[in-house]
Amino acid sequence: MDNPNDIENIKKYLSEKLETVSSVDDISKIRNEFLGKKGFIGKMLSDMRNISSDQRKDYGAKLNLLKIEVENMIDEYSGKFENDKDSIYTELYKSLPGRKPEIGHINIITQAISEITKVFAPLGFNRVRYPEIDREYYVFEALNMPETHPARDEWETFFVDSPNDEKLGRLVITPHTSSGQVREMLKGELPIRMLNISRCGRRQIDVSHVPSFYQFEGLVIDENISTTHLIGVLDYFAKNFFGADRETRLRPYHFRFTEPSFEVDINCGICHGKGCKLCKGGWLELGGAGMVHPNVLKAGGVDTEKYSGFAFGWGVERTYMMKSGTKIDDIRNLFSNDLRFLEQF
Ligand SMILES: [Zn+2]
Repeated sequence: MDNPNDIENIKKYLSEKLETVSSVDDISKIRNEFLGKKGFIGKMLSDMRNISSDQRKDYGAKLNLLKIEVENMIDEYSGKFENDKDSIYTELYKSLPGRKPEIGHINIITQAISEITKVFAPLGFNRVRYPEIDREYYVFEALNMPETHPARDEWETFFVDSPNDEKLGRLVITPHTSSGQVREMLKGELPIRMLNISRCGRRQIDVSHVPSFYQFEGLVIDENISTTHLIGVLDYFAKNFFGADRETRLRPYHFRFTEPSFEVDINCGICHGKGCKLCKGGWLELGGAGMVHPNVLKAGGVDTEKYSGFAFGWGVERTYMMKSGTKIDDIRNLFSNDLRFLEQF
């Protein structure tokens, strides 16, 4: 067929042309021949000025429709070459940038555990872990809290439905990392510089408490250990974890497993102890500490005439939240699996 010059013949001519196509290059030649600026349809559009004005509108509409149909026919045909290794589409796909896999990051709590471990390591603290479900003996009795003692009521403990051990009592989800103290002593290796970081459980839930949380517990037992050593270690931690301008202070307190016992405060990171809206009095409470009670040392088989020690046990989440620049309104968010929250860290 000769070159078409009317609407009726142009599609037929295109069909014949497409039958002869053998490569992507052929397609682009045909596309240019029909749809290019000087192609058939372009020429027909420019020839419209020779048509009388009353016919022009109708003819223009027909031409536009034709243009769309021609485009569709060519596109459909070019699709047949997509799997051809010479196809420009294949080449195009190869040159496209790959899809970037989404990379996660370590959870904020794991980050905190790793940072805390690093701070204590240069002082010789050895990271250990003890059972997260343990017998009442290690959790309470060995820590100077006999079964009848009212202090036991303060621990909102999860009891595990299991056979009772006559000597060691029921199984509980450890409500604190202190249960590792006597287990560490019973290894019989002195001196001790222990850092026990573990998951704990208590029946509690609100903006500042979760039923499953983490604690880190430091325990040092050696000859001639005194409160001075405890203060030194706490200050070292405060400066290395929170910042060089931070310091700690001790307030007298009462715990069953330490004597004397203290609450440890750290000076506020915003006002540095002067007092502001956040801290009120200039200090923020970190957690408990004290000199290991002789009864606990005895339960661990440690000679109390020769050895003494100190211990501290704090919440990982709480300590991390107190670190400068980390403000979390609701501690439960840490466990909510909400990526919008977790991706901030
Ligand atoms: Zn303040």
